[in-house]
Amino acid sequence: MRTIPHFIDGERVEGSGGLPVYNPATGEVIAHVAVADASLVDDVVATARRAALSWANSSLSQRTNILFTFRQLLVEHAAELAAQMTEEHGKTIVDARGELARGLENVEYACGLIEHLKGDFSSQVADGVDVHSVREPVGVVAAITPFNFPAMVPLWMTANALASGNAVILKPSERDPSVSVRLGELLAEAGLPAGVFNVLHGNADTVTQLIEHAGIDAISFVGSTPVARHVYQAGTAAGKRVQALGGAKNHMVVLPDADLDIAADAAINAGYGAAGERCMAISVVVAVGDVADALIEKITDRLDRLTVGPGVDPTSDFGPVITKEHRDRIVGYVSSAPDDGIKVVRDGTGLASSPGFFVGPCLLDGVRPGTKAYDDEIFGPVLGVARVATYAEAVAMINANQYGNGVALFTRDGNAARLFSRQVSVGMIGINVPIPVPVASYSFGGWKNSLFGHSHIYGPEGFTFYTRAKVVTTRWPLPSESQIDLGFPTTR
Ligand code: NAD
Repeated sequence: MRTIPHFIDGERVEGSGGLPVYNPATGEVIAHVAVADASLVDDVVATARRAALSWANSSLSQRTNILFTFRQLLVEHAAELAAQMTEEHGKTIVDARGELARGLENVEYACGLIEHLKGDFSSQVADGVDVHSVREPVGVVAAITPFNFPAMVPLWMTANALASGNAVILKPSERDPSVSVRLGELLAEAGLPAGVFNVLHGNADTVTQLIEHAGIDAISFVGSTPVARHVYQAGTAAGKRVQALGGAKNHMVVLPDADLDIAADAAINAGYGAAGERCMAISVVVAVGDVADALIEKITDRLDRLTVGPGVDPTSDFGPVITKEHRDRIVGYVSSAPDDGIKVVRDGTGLASSPGFFVGPCLLDGVRPGTKAYDDEIFGPVLGVARVATYAEAVAMINANQYGNGVALFTRDGNAARLFSRQVSVGMIGINVPIPVPVASYSFGGWKNSLFGHSHIYGPEGFTFYTRAKVVTTRWPLPSESQIDLGFPTTR
């Protein structure tokens, strides 16, 4: 059986060890992925450090040209990359292409690096004195990514880190690692010097070695909250800058004045798309006032029209979840929901007997804080409806939640929308937009347990995170200005 190799110093490197990689639609093992041992981690860090030195001195136009070419190669290889994602992740081809398109936006943003890396200049801050600032690369970046966006999240990190002049070591999810290797090959084809971008496969131990390694300067992590918290704590304790994005529980508030057909469409798209395995998926619809019954009816009508099947089948609306263990965990939340007084309106767990890791759409009525189906991130095709009497109760529920990634409001009232966006403690807000993932020129990040560290990812904050600032104060005195003055320099 095929072993998915590392990509180190510009080439595929067969590795040892091996974790199974499944096709979630069939439940079969289709490959094994190598697992780096400690000495390989040392080797790849040494390679990246060496490459980082010359890449940091590459001209901005050289970096721009490479990224432009890379962008073009991603477009040309979109079908192949999408097929690879569908095979290992399970999402539909349409969804995989959508993910790639959102990743591509980040490469396009990074192509503007000459603008993003501009410093400031102030002339004559004091007599004969000028000041300018520059941003320099941090060095070697470890990029650690989750299973649910095998192309987009690596591109969130990689595009801006490379544009800023860093070398990158990507440790992709061991569940769907193949696409990362192809990203490495396409970057090499685009002209990126060997060793500047490396893919190192592995598990939790590999991540621990990377985050504690003295040769790593910065860590971008995206994954579940417990691991994000650990990576942040261990990485910062080891003296690195760390941005660690975690899990989510995203609410969608529906006010009584909302168009309920539009709201039901949005709940279906954002609740069940990609089998609910998106960090910006809606998992709780908060029905305000008397809208719950009508909304549930409209959602169930739409659920009747959904088809669950393999991602390669163009008639499938969503595919399987990532592993058998994850499927069983999701089924557990649905079957135990009645113990918490929650009504199961639609039970899709019957599909769980198929060899693929399928769960059909599930709809729960009456989720609320203190119930497992509300408190935990389920990360599956399970939408909960919470019933509240007032707008204020909806906001209080959202703000008391441990997560603060995304939130949406459905209303026709502009004033309520404006108030809502100011009152919720959440990083990304959609007004009549159910999955408000910011475009690449705005940064992405949640609040509370959805993000550890102060830096959001990609966009302007990406360039800030991947660079260090320097400020240069300059004076060109004439020999006639020679004098001894022990006073503290002032601008007056
Ligand atoms: P995960 O935390 O299990 O794994 C993420 C990465 O961490 C993988 O590369 C994995 O190998 C590594 N890892 C796993 N356990 C580790 C440990 N104990 N120590 C060190 N490293 C470890 O996450 P996942 O299941 O792959 O992805 C789903 C999660 O990611 C969900 O919680 C989802 O909400 C979250 N996510 C968040 C965002 C965001 O932007 N906030 C985006 C995508 C996914």
